[in-house]
Amino acid sequence: MSLLVTGTIGIDTIETPARKVERVMGGSCAYFAAAASLHCPVRVVAAVGGDWPAEHKAMLQRFKNVDLTGLEVRPKSTTFAWGGRYFDNMNERETLFTHLGVLEEKPPIVPNSYADSRYIFLANTHPAVQMELLSHFPKRALAVADTMDLWINIAKPDLMQLLKQVDGVVLNNSEAEQLTGVRNPITACRKILEMGPRFAVNKKGEHGAILVHRDGVATMPAFPAELHQVVDPTGAGDSFAGGLMGYLAGANRTDFEGLQTGLAWGTVTASFTIESFGLEGLAKLTRADVEKRMKQFQRHARVG
Ligand code: AMP
Repeated sequence: MSLLVTGTIGIDTIETPARKVERVMGGSCAYFAAAASLHCPVRVVAAVGGDWPAEHKAMLQRFKNVDLTGLEVRPKSTTFAWGGRYFDNMNERETLFTHLGVLEEKPPIVPNSYADSRYIFLANTHPAVQMELLSHFPKRALAVADTMDLWINIAKPDLMQLLKQVDGVVLNNSEAEQLTGVRNPITACRKILEMGPRFAVNKKGEHGAILVHRDGVATMPAFPAELHQVVDPTGAGDSFAGGLMGYLAGANRTDFEGLQTGLAWGTVTASFTIESFGLEGLAKLTRADVEKRMKQFQRHARVG
C-alpha cells in the first residue's frame, strides 16, 4: 500500500555533550521517509530552498525506496533550519533556533501521480500545511499526524482543527502534557482522543511508547541502549513513526493489533537512528539488519 509523508526537510545544527555538528541533513520528513523506506516505498511531499546542499540531496537519494517526485526546490527561498542542544542524559534537549524559511510560504504541490496514496503521515510542520495536504486524499485508509511544542504554542487553533480530521496522532510525552495539561501519559492521550483521533501514541524516549486507542491500550519498551551507544537522538521520534507507518502500509493494516506490532517495528527502526548523526545510521542499514534487531528486541521484551 502506498505511504506518503509531508513534513520538513531541514538543515540541522546539533550539539551533544560530546560534539557539535553543523548543517547536517535533517527534518521530520527526511527522517520519517528514510526510516519507513526500510519497510515499504515512501512518497515525499516537501519543499526546500535554493540553499539546500547538494550532499543532502545525495544522502536522500541513497534511500532507494524514497520517491522524491514531490520534493519541490524553490531557488529564491531558504530551507527550514533547526538547531538543538542535548543535555547530559541525552534524553532531553532544548531548541536553540528555528528558521522557518519555506514553511512560511505556500504548501508544497502534490504530484498527480501521488493521488492514490492510502497511508498518509503528516510529520512535524505547520498544522495548516498538514491540513492542506490531507485534503488531497479523501480516500485514504489511515492518516496520522505528529506535532511539537512550537506548533502547540503558535498554531493551536489549526492543530485542534487537524486533530478532528486524522485517525491518529504521535507525540512526545511533554507535548501530550502541553496539549492537555495532564501529566499522566495515558490520561493525557485519552483527552487527545476526545479532540478527534481514534488513537494516540505517546513517545517517552528511553522509556518506550504507549498506545491509547478506542479499542485498548498497549505499551512497548524502548530498545535498550547504553549511554555510549546514543550518539545523536535527533530524528528518533520521526524514525519511530516511519517504522510504525512503514509496517502498517506494508502489511495494509489499520487495526489495533496491527498498530501494536507497528510500535515494535518503530522502536527497532529508531534504535538505529540514534547511533549516528543525521541520516547516516539509517543509510547504511539493510532490511536484514532491521529484522535481526527485531528478533533481539523480541527476546528483550518477552513477557511471561
Ligand atoms: P525528532 O528528534 O524526531 O523530534 O525530530 C527532529 C527533527 O525535526 C530535526 O531534524 C529537525 O530538523 C526537525 N524539526 C525541529 N523542529 C521542527 C518543527 N518545529 N517543525 C518541523 N520539524 C522540526
